[in-house]
Amino acid sequence: MKSNAIFLFLASLWLMHDQAYGQYEYEYVPMDSFDLQKEILIDEINTDIAAIQSSLPRSSRDELKTILNYKAELLARRLKSNHFINDGELDQLVGKVYSEITTKNPRAGYPTRIMISRSPVPNASCWGEGTMIINLGLLSRLNTESELAFIMAHEMAHQLLDHVNEATLSAIKRRSDRGLKRQAKTYGKLDVMKEIAYDDARYSRIKEHEADSMAVVLLRNTSYQWQVYERVLDMLDSADYPETRERPDLKSRFDFSKYPFKDKWLEPPHSGLGRSSNTGLFSADSLKSHPNIPKRIAYVDSLYGYNAGKKSYDPSHDRIASSLQQRIDLEMTSSTFVINDYAKSMFYTLQMLGQYPENKFLKTHLARLLVELYLSRKNHTYNRYVRISNYYPKMMEELFIFLNNLRMSEIAKLAYNYINRDAVFDKTNEEHYFLLFIISTGLDNLEVSEKVLTAYKNSFPNGQYLEAMKL
Ligand SMILES: [Zn+2]
Repeated sequence: MKSNAIFLFLASLWLMHDQAYGQYEYEYVPMDSFDLQKEILIDEINTDIAAIQSSLPRSSRDELKTILNYKAELLARRLKSNHFINDGELDQLVGKVYSEITTKNPRAGYPTRIMISRSPVPNASCWGEGTMIINLGLLSRLNTESELAFIMAHEMAHQLLDHVNEATLSAIKRRSDRGLKRQAKTYGKLDVMKEIAYDDARYSRIKEHEADSMAVVLLRNTSYQWQVYERVLDMLDSADYPETRERPDLKSRFDFSKYPFKDKWLEPPHSGLGRSSNTGLFSADSLKSHPNIPKRIAYVDSLYGYNAGKKSYDPSHDRIASSLQQRIDLEMTSSTFVINDYAKSMFYTLQMLGQYPENKFLKTHLARLLVELYLSRKNHTYNRYVRISNYYPKMMEELFIFLNNLRMSEIAKLAYNYINRDAVFDKTNEEHYFLLFIISTGLDNLEVSEKVLTAYKNSFPNGQYLEAMKL
């Protein structure tokens, strides 16, 4: 009996291991967006914003109201464009941490809505009206629940200490009335407000210190490890360089017997691609706006230093299930696509293909990306999908240069050669016929287009792409 129990225990460990590493070998199903809940969430946000606006003191500036309206609009727009993920497993993780912090620290004023953004930027934010946003890019960097708990507690502290609206107000105050009016006249009021809402409303170093130390205070009452702060802050400091990720090998991925890789595709441009010369090609991400991270660690150390005989952070203690971590890594490929950042989507897809070379979703996704990139070159919308944003880790530079060097016909040939191979083309997948049809038609290879169309009609007489596949 006893040996049986041990056997079952070992067998279940093995199954867990197998599940973590085996289940994504061939398939991946992307995470959902909100469906009918979108409108409910938008209503909630508007109600919360109206409540804040009505309780603002008479003396407070009209600008703050405008900025709050702008925030509501922006959140609504993002909800409508599927910027947020609706996923049971992620909700469960975040909900568990949220309820541990809030039930062990009962008080009013916590954020009431937590939404998971598809953004790859390793960041979280509080919007001041009750919304807390956690980015997928942050979740992809976390190893334990304690790490997530510290970040959530830090953002909660910004809200509890009313830092969000304070930061906005002081940003407004820093600009004189005349200056504000002049800018509004030149750039339009909304643009000036947007700038204040984003660029100027960063927290001061003192507020970051306050949020860090309050996060520790909140975590000390929970089952999580408050000592985690050093690990998390270090991670944020190095977020540009995800240490677990490998740089994709473009040359071997896009080298085909009938269309060999060209080294000139990797040559950096003679003039910068960046928006202005002094920010360079790749500007720092938003986390760099945080005050100097070592100073933040030293400050919390000075308050709660745990070296004196206390237990230190144990990264094996409350680990996030490795199957969920794998799922988050895979989701980066799809989420960046949903938010129209095709360059990053390709970066993550190539990385994941290195890990799961036979994954059908990833193979299809790379084909889809190449065709979409070809179509956007054709429609002169390429810059919308291959763009420099605030977050651009150095590791992505090569891919970005590659994508910027490719001409329309070159992308088409790469797409054609990638899809039109036994290793990739899947006769049971309708989308593959459609993609190959688009790209062979684009290359004026009508012989192939006709063959693909005939094969498609034979295999899928009522296929969903029939309407779109017309010669
Ligand atoms: Zn902060």
